[in-house]
Parts: sequence; C-alpha cells; structure tokens
Amino acid sequence: MKKKFAINGGISFGSKLNARQLLTIAEYLEENQELELTTFQQLYVELREDQEEKALQAFKEAGLSVYPVGNFVKSLRTCNFCKGSEEEGMPVAKEINARIAGRPVPFTVRAAYTGCAVGCGEPLANDIGIMKIKDTYNLYVGGKAKGIDAQLGTLVLEKAQPDQLYQAIDRVIDLYAEEGKKREPLAKFVHRYGIEELQGLFR
Ligand code: SF4
Repeated sequence: MKKKFAINGGISFGSKLNARQLLTIAEYLEENQELELTTFQQLYVELREDQEEKALQAFKEAGLSVYPVGNFVKSLRTCNFCKGSEEEGMPVAKEINARIAGRPVPFTVRAAYTGCAVGCGEPLANDIGIMKIKDTYNLYVGGKAKGIDAQLGTLVLEKAQPDQLYQAIDRVIDLYAEEGKKREPLAKFVHRYGIEELQGLFR
C-alpha cells in the first residue's frame, strides 16, 4: 500500500529545489511513477509502506520538508521575499509554518504569507492570510480562491507584533479544530461563527 506525502524545500527565497533534493526524491520513485505539482508550493509523492521510514529520513537529510496530505493545515505558502529575509519577515514566516503546518483540522486549511503590501503570496485569497506592512503584521481569515463563491479574507488583526500574530493564528486554528464541522471549510466556519465575534477575540 502507498501513502501520499507533500514535500517542498521549506521556506526560503522562492519555492525552489536543488539538484540533491531532486535526486533524493527520484531515488524513491518507480520508473513510470509521476510526481504531482500542486498549486500550493508542494509536490505530492506516494511512498510504499516498506520504504516510508528510509525515504522520509533521506528527504530530511536532503533539507526537504515533509507534510501530511488531507485534512490538515498545509505548509505556509509564501512570496519570494524579494527585498530580503529580515525586511520581509522570513523568520516570522518560518515560525508560523513550524507552528501550524500539519495540524489536523476539519477540512484542509491553506495559509499564505506575504512580505509586503504588494501581496505576491496572495494572502487575501486564502483561509489564513498574513501580510507584513512595514514593521507589523495584518491577519486575514476566511479567504477562498476557488468556486463561484470565491471571496477575500477579512482583516481580524491589524498592526500586530509577531507574538500577537502567532497567538491569534493559533487561536483561529484551535477554534476551528474544536468547533468546525467535519469537512466544513474554514471560510464557511468563519461566517457561521461570525466575523465580528472573531475580531472581538483579538481586541
Ligand atoms: S510580496 Fe513584496 S516582498 Fe514579497 S515578493 Fe512580492 S514584492 Fe517582494
């Protein structure tokens, strides 16, 4: 039996893989096996049960990040940090990713981060969006890029410092994990819970 995993090169300047990482992945693919490239800066790879442990260790050693596939928070999608790591808050993005990626939730959660107001990471079109503006961070929730009911996320926290931001994101995910219905998307949950109530949690 095979199990699907999502992998990428972690949070850095753009979504890139180096030659060693590509070779490591290829080692665990059968000749005609395909690798699926998702829209969320992840590759899906299917591993046989008997090769899983060895492959995951090899991926880790090659500097790849591995995440579960399904009803979990996905790894954080980011912009390319074109103005530099510190200025665009890459350490904050890494911390957010470490805290939330892979957390079990009622339905897949997409979170996106962008280092300035240009918004290349498309934070407003995702379940959870973070936008760095000068030295502070805005948090948006409930964005939805797909479907005829596509919508932008709503600002629930403005001009936050990193610690406030981490706590607010944790709170949103905790709430959704506890009170969201099975397969209820976060955007739907947020409206059922009430945007004002949600904003009130962070005042
Ligand atoms: S969002 Fe800003 S920092 Fe990030 S890639 Fe776009 S322009 Fe550069």
